[in-house]
Amino acid sequence: MRRRIEVDPDLDPVVLPTSVLNEIFAHAREVAPEECCGLITGGDDARYQHVVRCRNDMTLWHRRDAETYPRDGTQGFYMNEQDYLRADEEALARGERVTCVYHSHVECGAYFSEMDQDFASQELFPFPDADHLVVAVTAGKVVDQVLFRREPGADRFGGRPVAHGLR
Ligand SMILES: [Zn+2]
Repeated sequence: MRRRIEVDPDLDPVVLPTSVLNEIFAHAREVAPEECCGLITGGDDARYQHVVRCRNDMTLWHRRDAETYPRDGTQGFYMNEQDYLRADEEALARGERVTCVYHSHVECGAYFSEMDQDFASQELFPFPDADHLVVAVTAGKVVDQVLFRREPGADRFGGRPVAHGLR
């Protein structure tokens, strides 16, 4: 059985450009109390370059079929398929790829939930090598951020602290 994964302070921090983080924080604040979601694209020399917002369709699905989708967008995210497919195509056209999936948690911590792990590990998940950035929003402010990455040789994600960098 899966359990939520928290930040592991023994793992090396991952540096993300401040501009990228600011864009994601702004997205998270704008759509709160709904969770935001989107992608970061980049290449080998600069892994985290561009932020692409995606629509969170979870409330839509919840209204259509509450039995299959018991949570709405305040407690989960369902990335709009057209949005992420287009983002992926545009990244490839720039010689980049999707390197990270981000989403927010509202009024709770920046952990990787059981549901988040299910989402990232599903067979049809389009970006199996991507990292996952979770940002926590409390009272309209971003208060924490953790990057979850598959640890080499391990069938689980490790939670790395996030540091601000210049690019
Ligand atoms: Zn989550």
